Amino acid sequence: MTPLPLRADLAGLTPYGAPQLDVPVLLNVNENPYAPSDAVVSSIAQAVTGAARGLNRYPDRDFLDLRKDLAAYLFAESGVALAPEQVWAANGSNEVMLHLLQAFGGPGRTVLSFAPTYSMYPEYARDTFTTWVAGRREADFSLDPDAARRAIAEHAPSVVLLASPNNPTGTALGLDVVRAVLDAAADVPGGCVVVVDEAYGEFRREGTPSALTLLATYPHLAVSRTMSKAFGMAGARLGYLAASSELVDALRVVRLPYHLSAVSQAVARAALAHSAELMAQVGSLRAERDQTVAWLRERGLAVADSDANFALFGTFDDRRAVWQGLLDRGVLIREVGPPGWLRVSIGTPEEMAAFKDALVEVAGL
Ligand SMILES: *Cc1c(COP(=O)(O)O)cnc(C)c1O
Repeated sequence: MTPLPLRADLAGLTPYGAPQLDVPVLLNVNENPYAPSDAVVSSIAQAVTGAARGLNRYPDRDFLDLRKDLAAYLFAESGVALAPEQVWAANGSNEVMLHLLQAFGGPGRTVLSFAPTYSMYPEYARDTFTTWVAGRREADFSLDPDAARRAIAEHAPSVVLLASPNNPTGTALGLDVVRAVLDAAADVPGGCVVVVDEAYGEFRREGTPSALTLLATYPHLAVSRTMSKAFGMAGARLGYLAASSELVDALRVVRLPYHLSAVSQAVARAALAHSAELMAQVGSLRAERDQTVAWLRERGLAVADSDANFALFGTFDDRRAVWQGLLDRGVLIREVGPPGWLRVSIGTPEEMAAFKDALVEVAGL
């Protein structure tokens, strides 16, 4: 057979992705369990009809209307005022991250993060030929500011990726740590962009601030967000970030032409017009999360403090058997994180009851 000239570094690799299985209780990829209401569905349908009438034309390349709506949403959510030129969007925050590494990573450059963290990060590094370096988080999955400073001084990265709240641990970073990283990054010769991935930002607990509040002080900071999690629009594929307009301008250079379809823009704007309603579930998901964490702890399990819509719990000698036992009972969770740990997304009260019943049976709690 004629060989395909696959890049040597891609040989034998399999595509990333959690299993997509057809089971009754899906608690494995941190989606919002609530489908959009009829009112949201009909607004979206109307917006898509409008967009469809213009599909013979390429979409608005700079999508300033959408960026304005996203800025208004961030103001309502976090009180931080941003110009539309400080906002960027793409097909999921995964693509936003790729833009960041295309612009600020590359051959001969390093991206630094702190493990355990999001398993997609090394893939963005690979795909942009950026060297991947992972420092360590502490035993409680927090980040020690001194350790972070030392790692930045040692590796002189051009990009630092901090997930906060972190996936898969749920850990949010205090602004003192983020500031320490930003200050250390400012000393890297040639410069260093610090990306705080706040995909789960809306689920943060009372008193946990967003890194958005630091944007006015740090031009080398980017805070990424997504409509996939709290907003309940994972299927729409819309991620975005906030940063200085200079940083955003650099991303405009590397994006593919017309990367955000007219349909995506219309769907996102229609959904954003309903943000108050969509966000109404965040409070109950947070409460369900706190209740799930407490329940797991009462049963003697270790649970990482969570500011997200999932909980990392354990530890199990044979986590695969627990994962499989839950699956056999129709509950799909995620086998991820350090050895012995499992991650469960927060679903509806009915879904969490099914999870608890199954776990009691499987793990004999
Ligand atoms: C889910 C998740 C995202 C969101 O990805 P999208 O492409 O926006 O769906 C980003 N970062 C982390 C850490 C996540 O867990």
